[in-house]
Amino acid sequence: THFDDVLRFWVNERPDATALDQEGRKTSYRELEENTRRIIAVFEAHGVGKGDHVAWLGKNSDLYCQLYIASARIGVVVAPVGWRLAPPEIAYILKDTGAKLVLAGEEFVETAKTIAHGLQTKPTVIGEMEARAAIAAQTPAEGFSKADDGDPVLQLYTSGTTGNPKGVMLSNGNLFALRNPGNAADLPWNHYNTDDCMLAAMPCAHIGGTGLINIAIANGIRCRVEAEFTPLGVLEAIEEGATHMFIVPAALQMVVQHPRAAETDFSNLRYMLYGAAPMPLELLKEVVRTMPDTGVMQVYGMTETTGTVTHLPPDDHSLDGNERMRSAGKAVPGVEIEVRGPDNKPVPVGEIGEICVRSPTNMAGYHNLPEATASTIDAEGWVHTGDAAIMDDDGYVYIQDRIKDMIITGGENVYPAEVESAIYGHPAIAEVAVIGIPSEKWGEEVKACVVCKPGHDLDVNDVIAYTRERVAPFKTPKSIDVIPEMPRNPSGKILRRQLRAPYWEGQDRQVS
Ligand code: ATP
Ligand code: MG
Repeated sequence: THFDDVLRFWVNERPDATALDQEGRKTSYRELEENTRRIIAVFEAHGVGKGDHVAWLGKNSDLYCQLYIASARIGVVVAPVGWRLAPPEIAYILKDTGAKLVLAGEEFVETAKTIAHGLQTKPTVIGEMEARAAIAAQTPAEGFSKADDGDPVLQLYTSGTTGNPKGVMLSNGNLFALRNPGNAADLPWNHYNTDDCMLAAMPCAHIGGTGLINIAIANGIRCRVEAEFTPLGVLEAIEEGATHMFIVPAALQMVVQHPRAAETDFSNLRYMLYGAAPMPLELLKEVVRTMPDTGVMQVYGMTETTGTVTHLPPDDHSLDGNERMRSAGKAVPGVEIEVRGPDNKPVPVGEIGEICVRSPTNMAGYHNLPEATASTIDAEGWVHTGDAAIMDDDGYVYIQDRIKDMIITGGENVYPAEVESAIYGHPAIAEVAVIGIPSEKWGEEVKACVVCKPGHDLDVNDVIAYTRERVAPFKTPKSIDVIPEMPRNPSGKILRRQLRAPYWEGQDRQVS
């Protein structure tokens, strides 16, 4: 099947149904189909065709959604760039895309033009207003040739948590498989009703943003587009009929702890998916208590796998302290998951290894990075995720942490996420990150960096004692830094490498 066919199918089935809904501005499926052909005509006018890159620098927008779908129809590669990044980071990505055309939200036109001016390729920059006018003035294209299954249509940059962001090329086939991996239509969360509404609240530069837009349109439902995440915006969208959404744990914390959450009726919300970073257990319980009628579901995946490859179904979210709540769930149908040791063979059940994934959603490769591609996807088609995990007898995976962040102290392995989860329960602590710092005695020793809740004083020894009651002594931090703010990237992920940097100046940190 093909994105273009699916779009035509929905235009036949329900032409007047709303496809995109942003701040009350609605685009029907008929309009979406026609507008995307106008965009294809604009591409043609700029000499942009199959395999060429078009970048988007802006917030989530119905214009971006149409740009993406137009690209997916014909095999132009759209590369959304995170607008929260600093200008040099934006420049790094824009240059890497090699885009011929850059579309920019109004507030980013100047940034985009300055960057484009400095690039050898001199891409054309068009602001959102100008783009909308140019699109409206075009006659919809006819008789274009469709993207093939293997053609890259979306280039998403990884979050840059462990190093420079990498351009992940996702094909038409990858994105189509995401709609319904392994034809798992019997799973309740893959069933959409005609009046369902997908809330796209995460940035479109992330798979949790564009992936959801993709799923909504592929299933013929309404996609409510939030320009940017705000906790209040999410609560309002839920009250106004959003039925499905995905957000990262840091954002979900802001939603459930917002004063309005207590008065919000969550009963419309059928599925709340969370993932992309470790979820503290106490926070998860709070989420389940806040929305008792909602199917709360964890997803694990990465940009390189077009997002979700394992899920923890709502039934595994019971409040009785069930161990399963600590798991990222099991493979979604159609996806193979193995936990492998250093010899690249599956480790016995219950032992730690690297999660490896074979899925129809595995990326086509990294853009411009043949070596990184070769070391990430092996000849048998397995993606080596760099994430350490344990699998149980039922195939549930328990993510420990990124292998690069593992701390080796006195010969023992410590996965920061476990320690963070324990410390997070402390009443005075709002945010926590655990890192390894150099130690003459232990090789590395465990340090926690914490942000206090407003109005709370922190007694460092008390935090150490609190942690000591919950995890083994070698995992307990030897020291604690109180910091004013947690360094995070725009995906809400903690940048441990930034916290580590001052301690490792001039030294190489060995990673296994
Ligand atoms: P970079 O690859 O540039 O360092 P990144 O890995 O953070 O950045 P993404 O592709 O956005 O970029 O994130 C994928 C990673 O997020 C996974 O490899 C894993 O470490 C983490 N992750 C995803 N889902 C979960 C989850 N449910 N629980 C814990 N960690 C998760
Ligand atoms: Mg990664």
